[in-house]
Amino acid sequence: MNILLDYNLNELEKKIVEMNESKFRAKQIYNSLLSGIELDENTTLPKHLKESLLNYVWSPIKIYKTYEGDSATKFLYKLYDDNIIEGIVMYNRYGNTLCVSTQVGCRMGCKFCASTLDGLVRNLSCGEILGQVVAVNKFLGGDIKNRKITNIVLMGSGEPLDNYDNVIKFLEILTDENGFNFSRRNISLSTCGIADKIYKLAEDFSGIILTISLHSAFQNKRQEIMPIANKYDIDTLMKSVKHYEQKTGRRVVFEYTLINDVNDTIVDAKKLYEITYGIRCHINLIPLNYVKERGLKNSTNIEKFKEYLCKMGRSVTIRKSLGSEIEGACGQLRRKQLKEENDE
Ligand code: SAH
Repeated sequence: MNILLDYNLNELEKKIVEMNESKFRAKQIYNSLLSGIELDENTTLPKHLKESLLNYVWSPIKIYKTYEGDSATKFLYKLYDDNIIEGIVMYNRYGNTLCVSTQVGCRMGCKFCASTLDGLVRNLSCGEILGQVVAVNKFLGGDIKNRKITNIVLMGSGEPLDNYDNVIKFLEILTDENGFNFSRRNISLSTCGIADKIYKLAEDFSGIILTISLHSAFQNKRQEIMPIANKYDIDTLMKSVKHYEQKTGRRVVFEYTLINDVNDTIVDAKKLYEITYGIRCHINLIPLNYVKERGLKNSTNIEKFKEYLCKMGRSVTIRKSLGSEIEGACGQLRRKQLKEENDE
């Protein structure tokens, strides 16, 4: 698949020159691609070049269905090979945050998550991740200059650090000043904790907000709900997080989904306080989204858990469950769609 959104501007320029065209055409193509202007709608490119470009994939991802919630819109996208992924844009006071997927499915196997129920189908290419930003920005009436999305979170389906090279290239294009020109501080990358890739990220692309899906501060409990903890234990993970925090000077975020009778007691909160000691961080408590296949229940102890951590001086919020009324979470919408297609 020759997807044009997989190329950065330099690569596009090289390609265009190889096609015996003037270099400035690459910038015109880049502008159209990022604005979501289709090839046949393009009025700046000469006819012969448009014809040569028919050999390339111009929009690798199409919005297939939308679901409107109170302060969020949920999307199902279709990829060129008919795979389906999902995303959500949340309308906040400070702007619009788009949550992007990085893989079709996921192989991390977290016990509470719907994205990983069928394992990993495939990685998304850089252009397919970027295509989500392009499609939703256009949906909101934006283009490359007049951007309607202010924040990006890599928290959709998939594990971003398990698709490392494509994700780094996506981040580079996202922050390119000739393109969308996102600021690094408005981008969050959420990981289940692949420690060696966290060190690599600190070298390759620091400055974005690192978000760690922790979910338990006890190694034995974490191992039970997150298989990745067998490979990187809590000490190893926390060392890599501390390194990222020190190297980049950025506060890290810990995500902690509260599950009834699993990780929601004051003993759990105390341990969470202890292991985050000395790390500039914010703790985001997430009410569990019920996933039928998983059978786990939301905690009834969230307020007390928060109160304890606040009393101990931690910065803590409880995540508003935006979009849950439209199954806004974690692979549930995609599964619903696949099931409907199978039942037809
Ligand atoms: N693989 C990455 C990003 C995708 S998941 C990661 O693990 O961080 C995004 C966030 O949603 C993670 O914190 C994940 O643990 C959480 N999550 C997954 N399933 C959930 C559920 N059923 N309820 C609440 N949060 C969930």
